[in-house]
Amino acid sequence: MTRAHVSFSDLRTAAYCPRKCYYQRTLPEEDREPPPEVEAIRALATRYTELLEAPADDFDCEPIAVSAIRYRDRLAATRRRLEAAGHWERLCDPDDRAVFAIGRHCRGIVHKVLGDPLEPVLISSGEPPDTGVWEPQSVHAVAAAKALSWQHGVRVERAWLEYPAYGVIRSLELTTRRTAQYRRALRTVRELDGPPARTTNRSKCEPCEFAAECGVKTRTLRSLLGI
Ligand code: SF4
Repeated sequence: MTRAHVSFSDLRTAAYCPRKCYYQRTLPEEDREPPPEVEAIRALATRYTELLEAPADDFDCEPIAVSAIRYRDRLAATRRRLEAAGHWERLCDPDDRAVFAIGRHCRGIVHKVLGDPLEPVLISSGEPPDTGVWEPQSVHAVAAAKALSWQHGVRVERAWLEYPAYGVIRSLELTTRRTAQYRRALRTVRELDGPPARTTNRSKCEPCEFAAECGVKTRTLRSLLGI
């Protein structure tokens, strides 16, 4: 591994906002670890069969983002769709989990690795978009696919995103457009040598933990300042 290897996390953040990536890279490594609640949500992705059979009362302590009834309905629909396509078993019982992958340009943890064909699965603790996957996650997924491809010497054509707090699983093809987004993010991270311009999409600033440092006045900050 060399300094030239960009982390999946930096790529994902650069695709969200290059300036945020700049701030994130100034943090010590230990402050960049995901909080325990993220791990609890990711653990749901190892328990789908059990969750599908659990009574609604058992969901009180689970980190799900919708009601227990809705969650089970959604997960059951996800299972039906993926069983019909022959993917449910491989997603529930992957060849490997939490694999550190290192490719030609980037490195990071792949949450699940599927075989035949080789495909990475990333587990998001957040909410899925109405359709497809968010662009930063797409960039992350392409990076994971490329790292696995480099390590195993085989082509990887597809990646998966799981949103276990919502009972949703989606796949994405490694299209030219997605690969171009990944390359753009890679270039952005490599060229970072000072704070880049702020994103023009200010809705991204609202949940950003660097808003105060960045100088963007979010609604939360304005209400704290009483303005
Ligand atoms: S507050 Fe907005 S512009 Fe600033 S780093 Fe965060 S997302 Fe980027």
